[in-house]
Formats: sequence, structure tokens, C-alpha cells
Amino acid sequence: MRIESKNGGEAMERVGIVGAGTMGRGIAYVAITHGAQVTLYDVAPGALESAAAQIEAWLREAMGKGRLDEAEAQRARERLRLSTALEDFAQAEVIIEAAPEDLALKQEIFRQLDRACPPDAILASNTSSLSITALGAVTRRPERVGGMHFFNPAPVMRLVEIVRGLATSEETLRALSDLARRWGKTPVLVKDTPGFIVNRVARPFYLEALRLVGESVADPPTVDRLVRALGFRMGPFELMDLIGLDVNLAVSESLYRAFFEEPRFRPHPLQRQMVQAGRLGRKTGRGWYEYP
Ligand code: NAD
Repeated sequence: MRIESKNGGEAMERVGIVGAGTMGRGIAYVAITHGAQVTLYDVAPGALESAAAQIEAWLREAMGKGRLDEAEAQRARERLRLSTALEDFAQAEVIIEAAPEDLALKQEIFRQLDRACPPDAILASNTSSLSITALGAVTRRPERVGGMHFFNPAPVMRLVEIVRGLATSEETLRALSDLARRWGKTPVLVKDTPGFIVNRVARPFYLEALRLVGESVADPPTVDRLVRALGFRMGPFELMDLIGLDVNLAVSESLYRAFFEEPRFRPHPLQRQMVQAGRLGRKTGRGWYEYP
């Protein structure tokens, strides 16, 4: 992967993104507005179109706020390519995988990426909690596999956890950190431990709040209001709705399993029931709150 810009101007990385959901589309927006050529890949019908519409809405919002002019927005649009074929990653220098939080699924994707991408390409995962070591181990290039964990909403949140798997090389970590910086983000190097830093610290935030509601001590708006009064930007239920209750449950389950069923990380039945009901938060129009 090129670390220096070759044209002396803006960097022109060739980036592949797997998954055009909440995170994949946000990362794609960040990348194209910072000069990268992006191939955004998904398998679900409609996901790419919905991502393209969201990216267009973000571009218009940025223009409305004077952060981008029409010419810049047009250049950003031209850097985005939508794809349903992994062969389109044949020229990619770095791939960021943002598929659902499921280890077996991600490992299968990493096997496919290993075959489809140039041998020197870096394969990064946006996983919130899963083992980067376990993803690297299914490829022939574990030293070029690392975590690049963006936060939601990716266009806004500056923090990116750069995760070092057991075999990740210094060069890979440096390239991912440099990339994050070029995209206006603040990379922080973390070890490959379940949930890394942020999601491990955040787990009790969600789980205790769920227990309070499960015990009928308080309802979600009350918990959120009190937590905001402490100075947090969002309460735990508002945040779950933003993240997606399915994603949040998958991360809870992943931490619980990875820590050998440590009771502190045990998911709450209310979480699972909401997912079973299809109340996934903002993305489905209803979670703990309604989004007409
Ligand atoms: P999401 O459900 O919104 O999107 C996942 C996308 O992956 C969907 O568009 C789906 O069609 C696609 N997909 C499914 N199988 C695929 C496959 N085999 N190949 C390609 N695409 C496939 O999920 P999300 O919220 O964007 O989360 C994606 C990843 O990012 C997860 O690992 C999650 O833990 C992590 N993450 C999520 C958040 C958040 O707040 N939502 C924040 C940080 C990290």
C-alpha cells in the first residue's frame, strides 16, 4: 500500500470496503471525501443503492454547511464504485471489512479476500469485538491483517482503534494508522483483546441499563435522560438505537463467549427479544424509540 501520495497532492489509495451497511457506507464517505478511490461491495439486494443514497445525502449536507463545494463533491462521487463481485478488488491496496459481527462469516470473507486481492494488500476489519488474530489466521498473510475499528457515525467520530493481532506487522499498523490520519481520524493502537478498549468499557454501560429496565426500576427515556445529565452525549438506549440492536447484541454475545462466559458480559434477554421483534433501532424505524 502506498503511504506517500504519488502526485504530490492528495493521496489516492485504492480501497475496497466489504459491507455497505451502517459502517461500510460511513467509511466509504470518509474515504471518498479524503481522496481515496473506493470500491464498495455488498451481497444484499438494495444495500448498495441505499448506501449510495445515504452518501449522496451526506455530500449534500456537507455542501449545505459549506464544508465541500460542488466540484469537490463531484470528485468524491466519481471516486465511488459500487460492486457485487469481489474480483473488483483485484487492484485494491487496502480492504476494510464491515460485514456483520459473526466470526465464521468474517473468516469466510477473509478467505475470499485473501484469494481476490493482491498479495501485498492489507486486509483490515472494522469488527467491534472479534479476534483479529482469528481473522488473520485464515489468510496466507496474517502479518498484513489488522483491525481498523471506526465508530458510528463514521463521518463524524474521530477515534479509530487500530488493532494489533498476534501476527500483525509494525508496517501494517503504521500503514493503517497513517491512513486513518490522512482521513482526518485519530488512530489509537490497541491490543487484540475481546471488544478492544471502547467496546469492553462500554459493555456494562448497556448491560446495567438493560438490567435496570428489566427489573422495572426505570424506563429507557428516564435512564437516557439521567445519563445525559451526567454529561454523556447519548444515553445507553439512544446509543443502542443508533448502533443497531442486532449489532449491539452480537457484540455482547461475542464478548461473553470470548471471555469464557464471564457473567459480567452476559447479554440481557430484553436485547434478544427486541431483535426477535425486528426492532433494531433507527435503521428499522423502531427500537427503544420510534423514528417515523
Ligand atoms: P449492518 O448490518 O448495518 O451492515 C452489514 C452489511 O454487510 C449489510 O449491508 C449486509 O448486507 C452486508 N453483508 C452481509 N454479509 C455479507 C457478505 N458475505 N459480504 C459482503 N457484505 C455482506 O452492520 P454495521 O452496523 O455496519 O456493522 C458492520 C461491522 O462494523 C460489524 O462488525 C460491527 O460490529 C462493526 N461496527 C458497528 C458499529 C455500529 O455502531 N453499528 C460501530 C463500529 C463497528
